[in-house]
This record gives sequence, structure tokens and C-alpha cells, in this order.
Amino acid sequence: MPGTVYLVGSGPGDPELLTVKAKRLLDESDVVLHDKLPGPAILEEIPESKREDVGKRAGGERTSQSEINERMVELAEDGNDVVRLKGGDPFVFGRGGEEMQYLAAHGVPFEVVPGVTSAVAAPAAADIPVTHRDHASSVSFVTGHEDPTKPESAVDWEALADTGGTIVVLMGVGRLPDYTRELRDAGVDPETPVALVEKGTRPGQRVATGTLDTIVDVRDEAGIEPPAVTVVGGVAGLWEDVEAGR
Ligand code: SAH
Repeated sequence: MPGTVYLVGSGPGDPELLTVKAKRLLDESDVVLHDKLPGPAILEEIPESKREDVGKRAGGERTSQSEINERMVELAEDGNDVVRLKGGDPFVFGRGGEEMQYLAAHGVPFEVVPGVTSAVAAPAAADIPVTHRDHASSVSFVTGHEDPTKPESAVDWEALADTGGTIVVLMGVGRLPDYTRELRDAGVDPETPVALVEKGTRPGQRVATGTLDTIVDVRDEAGIEPPAVTVVGGVAGLWEDVEAGR
């Protein structure tokens, strides 16, 4: 009998934001395949004997997606119940969709277990609501880390600018200068508030705020590093008043 592969979201990093189901599957599974994104607090709770880090190979190189896919199938075919643990929600920029397709194509039983995505939770943990009746009636989730082999940007920043809603950029620390420029070029007010939330819900969470014009300098001065989300829009400007009133 083959085992089942559970594609499980681990949430933004606070172990109390794991779902009850994720916690149960972590306890009951035979093997947990993970990378670094779930964060130390969650990973340290998993017995070493069943953890397999597929984020990095010896030598610091990344394990390729095809190796991860093959490993999931191999373990399940050997009868193991496998948790493929992914930061946040498995289907938000986590390649969970591709992994599901691979499992389905190989006839491996699988189940998707949603998680609390950092796209919403990291801003929320920093007192930033991604929607607000007076400031944003839509929110877009965007990758800031585009495939460098793609000939042109797959993200239509101009169209995003036109929505007038909140824009949350994941994997967007490094390319902050590029997309803030694209948004300004698309006519977004340079005074639009922008917040960077680093290590949302984790020890050492930090928030740095500025505007579309200043946020690159703010990032550099604060030394903001991944994992962090960028929040662009009026909702990112409520923060200081709220903190002052706390
Ligand atoms: N599936 C994940 C996202 C994977 S992409 C999810 O739903 O959250 C990885 C990106 O997620 C990081 O580059 C960062 O932008 C974001 N991220 C993950 N955890 C975070 C955290 N605790 N705080 C801030 N950003 C986080």
C-alpha cells in the first residue's frame, strides 16, 4: 500500500499559527520534507529522525524541484505517509501546485492542507490590514522574484497600479528598487505608503515604513532581509497612528 503525501502549509512561522490539522499530520506522519521557510520554532518541534531538509544540499546548492518531486513519490511508494511542509499556504508562491500535479501524474494519493499565508498574516501581525473600507477594496499578491530566464516581466505593474488596491509583494526585498520604480512610472503617487514586514509573527519581527519614494533607503538603513513582505497602499500608512494610540 502506498502512503499519502500531504502538502501542508505551516503558516508564517509562529507555531501557534499552525492549523490543528497540520499539527496532527506532523505528529502522525512518517517523514517530513521541508525547507527553511517554516522557520526554526516549527522545525525544532519535529523529531530529527523524521525530518528531511530538501531546501539545501551539502555544498549549499538548492535541491532541484525534480529531486524533491521524485523523493516524495519514492517515499510514498515505500508506504510512508509524508508531510511536504511548506511555509505559509502551500499554494501561494510555494510551487505546491506543481508538486500536486506531479503526484497526481504518478498516481500517488495526496491531500492539500491549507495554511495561513504570510501574504496576509505578516501584515496583520504588524497591525496592517490588507483591506480596509476607506483605503483598499482589493488586494493583489505578487512575486517580486521573477524568473530571470523569462524574457519580459510576467507581472503587469501598470495594471496593478490601476487597481488602486493594496499590493503585497512576496520575495520582494532584493528587487524593491525595480518594482517601486515601475509603480511610480505607472503613475502611482510617490507619497503612497509602503511597509516592509520582516519575520512576521516570529521572534525578531520588524516593520519599516516609508513611501514609494523613500522605501529603498528605509530598507537599506534598517537592513531588512528576507523573509519579508512589502505592502504598498494606504493601509500601510495607518500603522504609525495605530501604534501611537496603543
Ligand atoms: N507559501 C508562502 C510563500 C512562499 S514565497 C506563504 O503563503 O506565505 C516566500 C516568501 O514568503 C518570502 O520571500 C516572504 O516574502 C514571504 N514570507 C514567508 N514567511 C514570512 C514571514 N514570516 N514574514 C514575512 N514574510 C514571509
